Amino acid sequence: MPARPGDPVDLVLTPRDELSLARRDLTADCSRCVGLCCVLPAFAASADFAFDKPAGTPCRHLQDDARCGVHDQLRDRGMPGCVVFDCFGAGQRVTQQTFGGADRPTDAAGLAALSAVFPVMRQLTELLWHLTEAETLVPAGDLREEAAAARARAERLTHGTADELRALDAAGLRREVGDLLGRVSEVVRAGVPGRARDRRGADLVGRQLRGADLHGVSLRGALLIGADLRGADLRRADLLGADLRAADLRGADLTGALFLTGPQLTAATGDAGTRLPAALTRPAHWPDTVTAPPGGARSPAGGARGRRPRRR
Ligand code: SF4
Repeated sequence: MPARPGDPVDLVLTPRDELSLARRDLTADCSRCVGLCCVLPAFAASADFAFDKPAGTPCRHLQDDARCGVHDQLRDRGMPGCVVFDCFGAGQRVTQQTFGGADRPTDAAGLAALSAVFPVMRQLTELLWHLTEAETLVPAGDLREEAAAARARAERLTHGTADELRALDAAGLRREVGDLLGRVSEVVRAGVPGRARDRRGADLVGRQLRGADLHGVSLRGALLIGADLRGADLRRADLLGADLRAADLRGADLTGALFLTGPQLTAATGDAGTRLPAALTRPAHWPDTVTAPPGGARSPAGGARGRRPRRR
């Protein structure tokens, strides 16, 4: 029978929809923040920032409405370091929840209070980002319940007072959650035939990994800065904390890659041929055309197969 107006609608959510819903509060909403990431941290003139800025002083580009005046030109204005930062919604939580929507203080004590809380909240929201994913990765059972409980606990902690947040052992919590995410990762990657390779924390800076078979490999914490990963098979690879700055992901397949974040992708290079996990979107600065030739022959994980490293 055809549906009539007013009939209940069966919503079929894709994995991307489900994860996006779970993460709706883990996305930066600058309209509800007082520009914390543009005031509290210090940065130094470098490839990432065009000028020095001391901690606790507003960036010269921060407008009175707490918006960035050069938001659409950050790379062109020499500020790529801003592009790759994501607070995962910590800014609006600190502004609205912890400090009750108050204006940004200008006195040293007020700024010190914010500076003590914002990094802790940032860690909590990043853990929440990963825990929401962990819950979707494993079947119903003890491990999923553990992930759900850890997420609920982290969520409760974000509602603490400023003093409670300051006193939180964030490093200890990160270790606990990291262990849990590691066990989730093991379960997911166990389904990949012959996935025994473990490159956790590996130094792969500038390595030639074009077309490499990294399917299901753990690369958590690996240094992949400037690595040539064109056409690499990174399906279901664990990329928690992997440093992908300037890595070349054109044509790479990251379908189902675990614990990957937007800032990691934004720091890398990709193109329309890069396949992403369902819940992540293509960074705006990546070309929407295929710019790399096909990946070619697969090489072993971390192996160079006789090619010389590309000079950068
Ligand atoms: S350039 Fe824009 S985003 Fe970066 S710190 Fe300054 S105001 Fe913030």
